[in-house]
Amino acid sequence: MNTMNITILGSTGSIGMSTLDVVARQPERFRVHALTAHRNVERMREQCLAHRPEVAVMVEPQAAESLRTALAAAGAETEVRTGPEALADVAREARVDAVMAAIVGAAGLLPTLAAAEAGKRVLLANKEALVMSGALLMDAVRRSGACLLPIDSEHNAIFQCLPNGYVCAESVTPHGARRIWLTASGGPFRDRPLGSFGGITPDEACAHPNWDMGRKISVDSATMMNKGLEVIEACWLFAVPPAAIQVVLHPQSIVHSMVAYDDGSVLAQLGNPDMRTPIAHALAWPERMESGVEPLDLLTMGKLEFFEPEAARFPALGLAYRALEQGGTATAVLNAANEVAVEAFLDQRLAFSEIPAVIAATLDAMDAEPVDSLDRVLGADRRAREIAGEQVANARKVVS
Ligand code: NAD
Ligand code: MG
Repeated sequence: MNTMNITILGSTGSIGMSTLDVVARQPERFRVHALTAHRNVERMREQCLAHRPEVAVMVEPQAAESLRTALAAAGAETEVRTGPEALADVAREARVDAVMAAIVGAAGLLPTLAAAEAGKRVLLANKEALVMSGALLMDAVRRSGACLLPIDSEHNAIFQCLPNGYVCAESVTPHGARRIWLTASGGPFRDRPLGSFGGITPDEACAHPNWDMGRKISVDSATMMNKGLEVIEACWLFAVPPAAIQVVLHPQSIVHSMVAYDDGSVLAQLGNPDMRTPIAHALAWPERMESGVEPLDLLTMGKLEFFEPEAARFPALGLAYRALEQGGTATAVLNAANEVAVEAFLDQRLAFSEIPAVIAATLDAMDAEPVDSLDRVLGADRRAREIAGEQVANARKVVS
């Protein structure tokens, strides 16, 4: 078996660490070519010493300098690079076979696009890249022949429920798939009284009942914007209209999503909620390999429940549908406004209950334009951040 050379974008994050855990179980099968991070020097130093990549990228120049000094002191030979361009370089390098796209937010767009344009096996965790510029990313995949494999647990589950030979960016309809059931846990506030949403703290919002994730996606799960972003993600990956996707609350997070077929069959993928399963699936595809995840014990699992999400509890989900309907740059605007609002909430500059209002006002203020170039997407992203920033400045910090 040939060794697969991997670049992990965002290696110090939750998905990045799970990826390294999976890769380290099969040293003869995988070789870590490059690791990248924003500024967490200590964790990157540990990762470099444990996995000995050829290149490490720290986006922040000072962090790169500290890492260089720390690695030299430890006698490690990893080359340290810096700057956002270095991210795209390690994603497109000829010797790289696969790229794990696990940077959070819009910062992941350019290197993910670079990996797709270079025809790599792209393991896509960074859903924001697809939400911002699905048209450009899917176009790059089609033109280069890149193999795009979803890491998001729901989309990975859907992919697993589709026939062998199915490739992302192709429509599922000719395969007899009629509807996609996208499961959502409902996050930590599924049963919390609506009147108390204003007083929610960042730590409460980040305490997800089933999944251990980075802070931004944890807040997105609490507002259910995460599910909204995932509906958009599914539309691009599986080339289906929004009406073909049904979001369903499933508090146990055991069924990761389902595909309903024309003949009445519904295929589901089940497993314990641990991202190492989709990561191992995409790394080994079309084969299977060990991931370190405990097998599911059906006898002790208890009941599996499914409910319809309440629109009033999760207004962010409706905003995602609205942006999808507007089309073009509207989903990039949605994403940018959400990033600004979530960051403000985590910094305690915005009440949790005000997050959807900031996003709605930003969508109201901008017309959707066709996504015909990267400049158009980046321009919409920039402008949406300015408008959302103004909205945050005028909004309530805490609502009791
Ligand atoms: P995280 O916050 O734990 O890690 C983010 C990583 O991105 C870190 O390595 C950080 O250094 C890097 N990063 C942050 N800002 C950056 C910047 N400006 N430039 C370069 N690098 C930067 O996030 P996570 O939970 O691992 O999520 C990563 C992505 O995967 C997100 O898009 C998220 O939606 C998606 N995802 C995560 C999970 C999960 O279980 N954590 C599940 C599904 C999808
Ligand atoms: Mg998900």
